[in-house]
Amino acid sequence: MLFSAQDWDELETSLRSCKKCPLAENRTNVVVGEGNRSAELMFVGEAPGADEDIQGRPFVGKAGQLLDKIFEVVGLDRKEVYITNTVKCRPPGNRVPNNQEMTACAPFLEMQIELVNPAALIALGSTALTWFLGKGYAITKARGKWYRWRYRFVFAVFHPSYLLRNPSRKKGSPKWYMWQDMLHLMEVYGRIKNGERIDSILKDYPERLG
Ligand code: SF4
Repeated sequence: MLFSAQDWDELETSLRSCKKCPLAENRTNVVVGEGNRSAELMFVGEAPGADEDIQGRPFVGKAGQLLDKIFEVVGLDRKEVYITNTVKCRPPGNRVPNNQEMTACAPFLEMQIELVNPAALIALGSTALTWFLGKGYAITKARGKWYRWRYRFVFAVFHPSYLLRNPSRKKGSPKWYMWQDMLHLMEVYGRIKNGERIDSILKDYPERLG
């Protein structure tokens, strides 16, 4: 299906006036998402935090700054990818969005995925992973692996805020695993950019299929 700029406009208009869940009550801004609308990589985090709520942009607080740093180190330009969250309004006190809120907001994320049509989805942390796969996947075990979601592939990595709480870089630490996972992702991304199909690329990494 082909989408147009008008579809994005309609999505953004619906989002900005959305009151489908109680998170609408306390928001300053709806944080739609940003980046390349034709990206091959689409990152999905949990929810906007305080900085994101104020600025109306995803991943601009401390966790976002760390994500930018990770991108820079592995040579990924933030403008090349698309970044959003499972819910578009800030949960009070930065709590995890509940099922009701995630379900209410899900059609927006589903639409964004259809519009961007990325080769790979990247779930940042356990909330995003649960959004895709349902409960039963611990991020500490699922990270670094690819999963099927509908007819797409989702790669699980730690959320940057988890890395902020676990600053060690020692071998076996969350930061160390993030580094390994991002290097792998960049390898796959390089091949996607060379025109290879993701399903055939992933055949070369059977140990990473979840
Ligand atoms: S979080 Fe999503 S569903 Fe809830 S009010 Fe915001 S845009 Fe609407």
